[in-house]
Amino acid sequence: MNLRIGNGYDIHQLVSDRPLILGGVQIPHHLGLLGHSDADVLTHAIMDAMLGALSLGDIGHYFPPTDPQWKGADSLKLLEQVNQLVQSKGWQIGNLDSVIVAERPKIKPHIPAMRDRLAQTLQLDPELIGIKATTNEKMDAVGREEGIAVYAVALLTRS
Ligand code: MG
Repeated sequence: MNLRIGNGYDIHQLVSDRPLILGGVQIPHHLGLLGHSDADVLTHAIMDAMLGALSLGDIGHYFPPTDPQWKGADSLKLLEQVNQLVQSKGWQIGNLDSVIVAERPKIKPHIPAMRDRLAQTLQLDPELIGIKATTNEKMDAVGREEGIAVYAVALLTRS
């Protein structure tokens, strides 16, 4: 079997006095995501999808939030490490897809920049990185703008 699929999910709280970083792109907003690292919820979900595809556990195992080493960490650097791990096992990304669930701000204008940043980090064609955005129709915590959630899937291939 030369194909493996994995899914990832993450959610972070929106709070004041934090930057809002999604896919390595800082998005202007009066709230940002709370977390031990830079709280880049999109990048976190993608990493979990990649790890999940190879049954390698989750990002909490590799970058525990209790470890001061990862305080304020640039999640793209962590993604680079996860990609190296995947490649060291003989696998590479076939394609990625993701859905960002956020009530505000408008995510769509920032999607091309996120795809470019992730593509650069993973040395992939941006065509292979799907990012979509939706609201939660004002329902539940995400709908009340208490947080942003992301679902991601990763297809890995080996030749
Ligand atoms: Mg996270």
